[in-house]
Amino acid sequence: MTRSAELFERAQKTIPGGVNSPVRAFKSVGGTPLFIKKAEGAYMVDEDDRRYLDYVGSWGPMITGHADPDILNAVRSRLDLGLSYGAPTGLETEMAELLCELVPSMDRVRMVNSGTEATMSAIRLARGFTGRDKIVKFEGCYHGHSDSLLVKAGSGALTFGVPTSPGVPEDFAKHTLTLTFNDSQEVRDCFKEIGDQIACIIVEPVAGNMNCIPPEPGFLETLREVCDQSGALLIFDEVMSGFRVALGGAQEAYAVTPDLTTLGKIVGGGLPVGAFGGKEEVMNQLSPLGPVYQAGTLSGNPLAMAAGITLLNKLRQPNFHQQLSDYAQKLCEGLEARAQAAKIPLTTQQAGGMFGIFFTDAPKVTTFAEATQCNLEQFKQFFHAMLDQGVYLAPSAYEASFVSAAHGEKELAFTLAAAEQAFAQLKA
Ligand code: PLP
Repeated sequence: MTRSAELFERAQKTIPGGVNSPVRAFKSVGGTPLFIKKAEGAYMVDEDDRRYLDYVGSWGPMITGHADPDILNAVRSRLDLGLSYGAPTGLETEMAELLCELVPSMDRVRMVNSGTEATMSAIRLARGFTGRDKIVKFEGCYHGHSDSLLVKAGSGALTFGVPTSPGVPEDFAKHTLTLTFNDSQEVRDCFKEIGDQIACIIVEPVAGNMNCIPPEPGFLETLREVCDQSGALLIFDEVMSGFRVALGGAQEAYAVTPDLTTLGKIVGGGLPVGAFGGKEEVMNQLSPLGPVYQAGTLSGNPLAMAAGITLLNKLRQPNFHQQLSDYAQKLCEGLEARAQAAKIPLTTQQAGGMFGIFFTDAPKVTTFAEATQCNLEQFKQFFHAMLDQGVYLAPSAYEASFVSAAHGEKELAFTLAAAEQAFAQLKA
């Protein structure tokens, strides 16, 4: 028995499913999750001392690689000053100034402790600001696990939502409408019918929770247009795409400016942080200035601020994002070429430093329904064949994978050689 297997068995006795976040359990690919001992640069080492080239990067934050010495030093330099004060610090303002400078839509920002908190708070603010209850989201987009957002479409897109998890009251779910990602006409139809009841649209501008699905030309612009016409707020959930697809996030890359933006992952440099921000007139509705309540004992934690500020400043180096994007592009092209040589139907999609692999003969995948039609069995086999050779991809066909600045030519060659072997092993 491996040490990971032993630890997994032990964990299941006290932690539901043995993990603190479901995707870590490897349920969608089968097998035993790896328990990680340490990580550095592009690599992680498991408890059995096996080394893996990592394309998960803690699900996004590790954009400069694991154990980045600059971030570790920034955290070390704060340690002896105390861990938390429950009172304001200059670091929080430094972070806020940085975010307002980097993210095009942000005039004001508030720090929270996770992406879930950021989206939950942004939705409450949008409802408070507009005085409306209904929200629009898109099938396949994930915005964390708050009640209003764990909702899927009812029988037709314009019917009320139904909870996707027990514990979410139907009374909450009925306020959430779930439409089809990349379907501009459906959005227009919905707003024509009930636009004056909608508080906000929340969208992952580049979807990364149904594999990697970039917006089709015109889709984000349509969202902006219907919000402007109806008085609803447009929320870009950039927890994943923020600082990753471009320094200023997807809103910079696609030149569409939302009213509110939610951030997480990279913004904390690997510590638990989220943020939401946007237009001054909207953000000023938050307490203590306005009536919309929102708070957090550990929000703006000094260690987390030090880590996040250091990381964000590193991302400002010239060409940082270009290099990430070049790597991801070469990787995707290399994977497609090797799959084609092995006669395996494969499509890849990429936005900056995030990418997805789809086992399908469709030239592109633009919706959740299309993503679910891909060959999941082949993905599982591919995932394990890569893992056996020391390449750790996202353990689900519905998750994007990530590259970091620590991924270089050596890592690219290693991955493509492993993929060639893996494709050769796949059963059609
Ligand atoms: N929004 C998006 C787009 C995400 O990808 C995630 C997490 O993966 C979240 C929100 C929730 O963030 P957290 O897991 O930090 O609560």
